[in-house]
Amino acid sequence: MTETEQHGAPRTLDVQCCIVGGGPAGMMLGYLLARAGIETAVLEKHADFFRDFRGDTVHPSTLQVMDELGLIDDFLKLPHDKLQKLEGYFGTTKLRLADISRTGAKHPFIAFMPQWDFLNFLRDKGQRYPKLKVLMSTEATDLIWANRGVCGVEARDGDGPLAINARLVVACDGRHSTVRACAGLDVEEIGAPMDVLWFRVGKGTETESVLARIEAGQMMITLDRGDYWQCAYVIAKGQYDAVKARGLDAFRANICHLAPILKSTIADIKSWDDVKLLTVAINRLKRWTRPGLLCIGDAAHAMSPVGGVGVNLAVQDAVAAANLLAEKLRNGTPSEAELGAVRKRREFPMRVTQAMQVMVQNNVVTMALKPGGAPIKPPLFARIINAVPWLQGWTARFLAIGVRPEHVHSREVE
Ligand SMILES: Cc1cc2nc3c(=O)[nH]c(=O)nc-3n(C[C@H](O)[C@H](O)[C@H](O)COP(=O)(O)OP(=O)(O)OC[C@H]3O[C@@H](n4cnc5c(N)ncnc54)[C@H](O)[C@@H]3O)c2cc1C
Repeated sequence: MTETEQHGAPRTLDVQCCIVGGGPAGMMLGYLLARAGIETAVLEKHADFFRDFRGDTVHPSTLQVMDELGLIDDFLKLPHDKLQKLEGYFGTTKLRLADISRTGAKHPFIAFMPQWDFLNFLRDKGQRYPKLKVLMSTEATDLIWANRGVCGVEARDGDGPLAINARLVVACDGRHSTVRACAGLDVEEIGAPMDVLWFRVGKGTETESVLARIEAGQMMITLDRGDYWQCAYVIAKGQYDAVKARGLDAFRANICHLAPILKSTIADIKSWDDVKLLTVAINRLKRWTRPGLLCIGDAAHAMSPVGGVGVNLAVQDAVAAANLLAEKLRNGTPSEAELGAVRKRREFPMRVTQAMQVMVQNNVVTMALKPGGAPIKPPLFARIINAVPWLQGWTARFLAIGVRPEHVHSREVE
């Protein structure tokens, strides 16, 4: 890894792989490639990983990867909450929809952990690999091209412009990816009927294991985070301004009606500043590659929050990319066909998962949010799952382990 600066000339950095974006996909891929002996730079535009809540669900598939990397014991020492049984209220009927203890997973629970703890952990553990360089406060602004292929990234940090030359650039810069836009890659929008308002309120003396609450015209998720509730209030697409116009008191009252357990602490929502809007999108790239460039994670496919799978799919993409490309990168620049193997491996799980999200959106979310809708009755599929415990293991497996789970095959090079 060499960095050069000549008087007056732009600074340059030469690496084998340049990863843009230090989210779950980028940090995991950076860790795996450096572990495999590949000179890797991860560019993260923010100065740190501390950002608003944005996906704290570490599923058994990701815990399995941490286990295979020998990191699981230290990882589970970080503060986290565990969830095994996913239950919801449909109107007044409480149903169990998934039970992770029935999946056979080695770590059979979802670990709720702030995403910044997860990312800081990967960065700290990655320090043992000298080939990993995590460049914070470094924003990719453009791609460098040669012979119609990508051969690096133009970036900017606190000292000004920086050119990073690389055999491979991997876009892990999320759903608003700059890199994929610079590469002219087309996005196919699938669409979502809802947006989500995230907020947290303190815990009172009571607790409840219920995750989802659905009533005519309203839907909410409540995640028990130990000393507070992380809540997701689902609204019809584009309706945030209308919700705001009805006022904070009406918003608080709706929440307490849906989840009476929040009554004693609802005053923690003091203003709209305490409420964050997630504009829900489901989309995917038609093509994930250009010569010298690969997109993975949200940059290749934004997921709906249904199932809380976005972080875990991003990690699975990273594991597959390292498995398929580490050796190729050691020997040179992977061909576009070799990069395409990552898409071939990951497209099926991504499409099946998005199809499940669309099914839930169309059948549960749309029904729940219908204005003036009839009182909610649990859908037939939910009643069947609740009645047949082994089916709860299947739904949990789909959600928590996913389709075609990845295992770490890239080897460690000391
Ligand atoms: C409010 C919210 C709640 C969510 N809830 C859940 C949940 O409960 N469970 C779940 O699994 N998923 C959830 N998600 C989705 C989940 O966060 C994403 O699917 C996941 O983080 C995708 O990982 P990624 O690494 O592909 O992209 P991201 O996590 O988006 O990371 C991209 C990174 O790239 C950086 N970046 C962007 N542009 C540049 C640039 N030009 N140069 C350098 N760096 C750049 C960004 O700062 C960011 O750190 C939620 C998302 C949001 C917004």
